[in-house]
Amino acid sequence: MTARNIRKYPDDCLREISRDVETNSIQSPEIQTFVKDLKETLLVENGIGIASPQVGVNLRIIIVDLDENPKVFINPKITKKSRRKLSIEEGCLSIPGIYGVVRRYRSINVEAFDEDGKQLIFKAEGLFAVVLQHEIDHLNGVLFIDHAVRIVKRTKM
Ligand code: ZN
Repeated sequence: MTARNIRKYPDDCLREISRDVETNSIQSPEIQTFVKDLKETLLVENGIGIASPQVGVNLRIIIVDLDENPKVFINPKITKKSRRKLSIEEGCLSIPGIYGVVRRYRSINVEAFDEDGKQLIFKAEGLFAVVLQHEIDHLNGVLFIDHAVRIVKRTKM
């Protein structure tokens, strides 16, 4: 496993639309190695979420880790959004030192594949839903600063 370098704003790859992973290639050595590297990168950077474009690879792969149990989501799709929203202050490994409050759906239904190619269908709520929306935005070239309010600059707490 090799931690990869985090691409920092305004790197062009953060603004690209990432492409789907072909489902029959999920088990390939290339994708499996990349997923391991992405996990290692998230661990080294001590983050709670990471998206593939943040290491310069525009594939639809994200990882969310809220409990030291990283979960991989390949080709994630939001199929339903709650009417209710919530606002949480967010940061991003690609935009160090900048924080801002983003309004997001309180709960979402998601379809994706895991790193074994198994289909996942689930509902996410609260912080889990927020991190998923932040990471899925990355796959569409969207950054939290695009829709954040009260943007502040400070060193990490
Ligand atoms: Zn981010």
